[in-house]
Amino acid sequence: MSESGNDISRRDFIKLSGVAAAAATLGAGAAMPATAQAAMVNLGGKANLPKAKGPRLVVVGGGTSGLTIAKYAKKANPKLDVVLVEKRDMYSSCFASNMLYSGLISLEFLADHSFLDAAVNNKYTFFNAAATGLDRAGRKLMTSEGEIDYDYLVLAPGVTYDYSRVGVKDPEAEAILRQMYPGGFISPTEHITIRDKVRNFEGGTFLLTVPSGNYRCLPGPFERACMIAAAFKKNKVKGKIVLVDPNAAPLVKAKGFLSAFDELYKGFIEYKPNTKIESIDVAGRTLKTEFDTIKFDDGAIYPGVRGAHILEAFGLMDPKSPQKEALIDDHKYNFIGDDRVYVTGDSRPMGFSKSANTANTEGKYVAKLIAARSQGKEIDWVSPETICYSMCNSEPAEAISVSARYVYDPAKKAFGFSPDTSMDENRDVAKGNRLMEWNKGMYRDLFA
Ligand SMILES: Cc1cc2nc3c(=O)[nH]c(=O)nc-3n(C[C@H](O)[C@H](O)[C@H](O)COP(=O)(O)OP(=O)(O)OC[C@H]3O[C@@H](n4cnc5c(N)ncnc54)[C@H](O)[C@@H]3O)c2cc1C
Repeated sequence: MSESGNDISRRDFIKLSGVAAAAATLGAGAAMPATAQAAMVNLGGKANLPKAKGPRLVVVGGGTSGLTIAKYAKKANPKLDVVLVEKRDMYSSCFASNMLYSGLISLEFLADHSFLDAAVNNKYTFFNAAATGLDRAGRKLMTSEGEIDYDYLVLAPGVTYDYSRVGVKDPEAEAILRQMYPGGFISPTEHITIRDKVRNFEGGTFLLTVPSGNYRCLPGPFERACMIAAAFKKNKVKGKIVLVDPNAAPLVKAKGFLSAFDELYKGFIEYKPNTKIESIDVAGRTLKTEFDTIKFDDGAIYPGVRGAHILEAFGLMDPKSPQKEALIDDHKYNFIGDDRVYVTGDSRPMGFSKSANTANTEGKYVAKLIAARSQGKEIDWVSPETICYSMCNSEPAEAISVSARYVYDPAKKAFGFSPDTSMDENRDVAKGNRLMEWNKGMYRDLFA
């Protein structure tokens, strides 16, 4: 058979005999790029990582919590070999994103931070993969790019949306809502969509919702209403924001937000407290509440949150947790009965504020705790600190703030705010400036 004849018959064989034959041929190392071969080997085998040079700490999730723990665990015990596993290949922060809508910042402010630089600067390894499975007995984490052995594992995967909280149980309706009216409290692509909705809004009702429960960033929906209203006001859009809230008032900084609604955004924000959403008709763009039917033209529907799905898939979820959060020791963060596996950040079950300053300060404590445990020691619990600024005005940029720590009540087996909690609800430019500095400081702490 001629050389060219041989080529043709090989091609035809692969084409005719389908996927199995093709896979077998490729598996045998036939004409295939080196990178694709490596990917195939890795999917079933070990991840391509340097050999661990000390006890290996694997951190899943390169958000506020995971980035903090990777950096500060390495600082606290330089012998730890730290690997940060993150599924996104580009960072963009959730915190600060509300300011996109009023034009106070651009996307670059949120996204101009590199996972690779964070890893190089802080002497750990960044591994771009999704965690897909856990073998606690064998201390192995499965990822989309291969398996990683660990001595200590931290899961900091954040939250996922829970649409059942707004009466949406049909998967098809949920998928449409996710795509057409994204919550804007998890992924950067949602922030871009909402920014463009605001820019292109021609008038009518723009719907925003406040979830029930301990949702991510309690002041976030109110700050968002202010930032979108500021854009409508500036651009003279004949539209109003309808903000639907199941609670009687904003859960934090109520006075500050309500006075901003009243003094800055009369006619632009219609706030509906004590209003529980019962169902959403996506096609008809209507919302049914206990008392009302609200028609909307566009919007961003924040349904409620629960712990990330991987907690449930990995057997780490507390079956009794109403928000499907982790079953962990509420002072030591390890999964009950396993001091090698920890869950931190917004997937924790403790009633702390689900916010970046909380995740960052908590992460510093957990990093020190794991570093100490890797050396056979223990440390005392330290409260996370919630410092949270909210922008209420855009020209000039004025903010309000809250600062809180937590104390444990053994009788209630729960945490409450410590007596030194303080709120500054008079919006002003000084706090607007401090808000911008807080954001920049947080990026420096996570990446530099
Ligand atoms: C609009 C908005 C405004 C906010 N404003 C403020 C504010 O003003 N102040 C404040 O303090 N906080 C604010 N926050 C809240 C703050 O951003 C979050 O509470 C904080 O980032 C939570 O940190 P985390 O690490 O738990 O989760 P995240 O930061 O969400 O990080 C989770 C990471 O895990 C990754 N991940 C998930 N699953 C996997 C997997 N299987 N494998 C690999 N990686 C995975 C995700 O990709 C993500 O990068 C705001 C949030 C939003 C959305």
